[in-house]
Amino acid sequence: MNRIDLHSHTAFSDGSLSPTALVKLAHQEHLDVLAITDHDTTDGLAEAMEASRNLPLEIIPGTELSAQFQGREIHILGYFINFNDLQFQARLEELRSTRIQRLQHILAQLQKLNIDISLSEVTQVAGTGTIGRPHIAQVLIAKGYVMGFKEAFERFLGLRGKAYVPRAVPEANEIISWITDAGGIPVLAHPFWEGFNKEKSVASCRQLMEQGLRGLEVFYSTFSAGQISFNLNLARQFNLLITGGSDFHGSYKPNISLGKGQGSLKVPPTLVDHLRLAAGL
Ligand code: AMP
Ligand code: ZN
Ligand code: FE
Ligand code: FE
Repeated sequence: MNRIDLHSHTAFSDGSLSPTALVKLAHQEHLDVLAITDHDTTDGLAEAMEASRNLPLEIIPGTELSAQFQGREIHILGYFINFNDLQFQARLEELRSTRIQRLQHILAQLQKLNIDISLSEVTQVAGTGTIGRPHIAQVLIAKGYVMGFKEAFERFLGLRGKAYVPRAVPEANEIISWITDAGGIPVLAHPFWEGFNKEKSVASCRQLMEQGLRGLEVFYSTFSAGQISFNLNLARQFNLLITGGSDFHGSYKPNISLGKGQGSLKVPPTLVDHLRLAAGL
């Protein structure tokens, strides 16, 4: 049976594995298709594609972009993106620039709570990757302020955390057109999770679809059977593509395994065929 995972991160954003190591792991786990979807960057894709060259494993070029929608941050996946597109790369650069500003605001909030973390401590953890809150969480853990990632997000970094600072990102319609302009398929990642109003999700879904959204990430590591069937109905109602993935981050999300999520994730392999067709491939 084919196995697929359409959502994963490398050290080029907030994953712990290099693209080469991720590809090796995917092969070990007998995946046939893996989409790499780093936050606000495609810089890990060339290495991953090279690493998979002689393996029975297809790498789908992807990315996961942050966008603003109804005053909150959502994530939009872009699949089969033409990552050599210069305009797209310039747009990504602009999107990444907001991360450092936000990081500085979060560190200032933490200072007020007597938590002493410096910018360089966080940039060191992030290495060359797109910097994000998981890197701050890592420093909080290393310095003994929290026990793990869950606590770091609940107490400080998550939407309801004491040091939460929203990030100034473009509206969803703009992010959707960035992806479409670069030949990619825009798909809503982990629909309606953190702080999102589920009652309004039908209207939200319609609105996003009118802005050019093509699919919904129906299958996701942390989704219950109820959430999956809710999402499945939404996708059917709006004739949207269906995708799914683990959102593997390596040691940054220690309870999520590649391809398997928390153990019960099963992404139907035929989804890829529809996605490929939609991309005109
Ligand atoms: P950022 O890119 O800085 O907005 O950070 C977002 C990333 O933080 C997400 O993609 C996840 O990898 C991670 N994240 C968000 N919420 C949580 C949470 N509650 N627990 C663990 N990781 C989280
Ligand atoms: Zn992430
Ligand atoms: Fe996400
Ligand atoms: Fe992700």
